[in-house]
Amino acid sequence: MESHHYTCNYCQKEFIPKRRKVQKFCSSSCRVRHHQASKGRKARQSQALGQPVQDSKAMEVEKISAAGIGNAALGTITADLVKNLLTKEDNKPATKADLRRLESKLKRYHHIKNMNQNHLGQLAYFDMELGIFIYRFES
Ligand SMILES: [Zn+2]
Repeated sequence: MESHHYTCNYCQKEFIPKRRKVQKFCSSSCRVRHHQASKGRKARQSQALGQPVQDSKAMEVEKISAAGIGNAALGTITADLVKNLLTKEDNKPATKADLRRLESKLKRYHHIKNMNQNHLGQLAYFDMELGIFIYRFES
């Protein structure tokens, strides 16, 4: 009398096999369905190999960040911002507040907060347009 339980390869149910070591499925219908499923999987795999599926979200980000952004530093900031907007609220159109936020990120002079002012009392800024560090009076 065989008391060892086998697990069905298809439905994961435990069963007592009628023939030891040969039987992988609890029933013939599970055996048939398993083979149909693995056939389908193989077909999908070969399709994927021949025709790589594009990640539509990645393409979207690429398109936006490539559109008319010449400056590398600007590109980094906007790409981050675009990524944030996309991940936060998927495909919702940008609101006026979003655009204002974008505008403030894109302004030319960015105050560098961990730099002291110079002997003239000017503050440290990063000039986004020229890509240089400068001192200027607060604007
Ligand atoms: Zn089964």
